Amino acid sequence: MKIRDVQSHVLRHELPAAEVFGSAKGWHTVRQALLVEITTEDGLSGVGEAYGPAIVNKTIVDELYRPRLIGRDPLDTSVIWEDLYGTFRDYGRKGMPIASISAVDIALWDLKGKALGQPVYKLLGGPFRTRVRAYATGLYRHQVPDNAGALAREAEGYAREGFRAMKMKVGFGIDEDTTNVRAVREAIGPDRGLMMDANHAYDVGHAIRLGQRVERYDIGWFEEPVVPEDVDGYLQVKQAVRMPIAGGEAEYTRWGFRELTARKAVDILQPDICACGGFTEALRIAALASANGVTVFPHVWGTSVGLFASLHLAAALPPNPPAMLATELLFELDRTPNPLREQLAAVPLTRTGDLIELPPGPGLGLTLDREILKRYSA
Ligand code: CA
Repeated sequence: MKIRDVQSHVLRHELPAAEVFGSAKGWHTVRQALLVEITTEDGLSGVGEAYGPAIVNKTIVDELYRPRLIGRDPLDTSVIWEDLYGTFRDYGRKGMPIASISAVDIALWDLKGKALGQPVYKLLGGPFRTRVRAYATGLYRHQVPDNAGALAREAEGYAREGFRAMKMKVGFGIDEDTTNVRAVREAIGPDRGLMMDANHAYDVGHAIRLGQRVERYDIGWFEEPVVPEDVDGYLQVKQAVRMPIAGGEAEYTRWGFRELTARKAVDILQPDICACGGFTEALRIAALASANGVTVFPHVWGTSVGLFASLHLAAALPPNPPAMLATELLFELDRTPNPLREQLAAVPLTRTGDLIELPPGPGLGLTLDREILKRYSA
């Protein structure tokens, strides 16, 4: 089997004013992604997604990776991974070059599954779970006078939908964060999980101060309290607050995750399959986490492609540690409005309350809706 062609699609959706949402990084006004489609000479195709600025990822894929992929055997996923990484290692050990490898790698695993007639999670070693428990990612900043009230109503909506856990944004100043966390906790009651995500908005001192202030609201985890470069800062926060610490969505490759895991800088590691290096590298990162006793709950963002790929990865992650009542994997399900996530799959996922069934069918189990692809192609 040989690769005949590699095509890339930039997808873009401008949010209507009423759907603009804020995190500590700023207001989000557009959703965009790069999809990579790889086709073989015998007519099979696979699709992957890259995290981050789509137009730069497109240039990397089209100009640097495509010429190295044509004519290769798509089943040689590790060999291709090392070739792409090694060839451009001097200029691209983190960030968009690795996100672009991720898209290629996901597409190759999709192809491998289709070629062998098996879902990707089977090729990864089989499912530890056939449905995953999702938590709702939302509770961003709203452009309204009473943000805490809006968050409380949004949280009640997720609870009504059946989500047993949800994650909210912090990073807007300790007083406002505390007000918002209290409002959401009071809205959902004591029995549902509540996590908070600062998107690395704080230095160590302020992260600790916030963590200690909201301890009484039973926080499931505190995500990205400080910038990803500050591994010592993560350790300081982890030692000072009584809640698990999470991070890793802005890290790349086994080398990037080595220090985070070896030093146990986080309790919960959150690699993103569309950023960290695809399935091939995510398995290596998961092995590092396992060897160091760190739990992996993947970070999930982006389109249906990233969502389906993340489900296959989540199915294949062993519980840490194994036990009769092991800690259940919590799967990130973005609830912000995004047609690229909700409409791109011709057959959508089956979700009952907060339980998502693994997509059936070979590869990613995803058939792209070509009309939707065309509508949002930039
Ligand atoms: Ca996050």
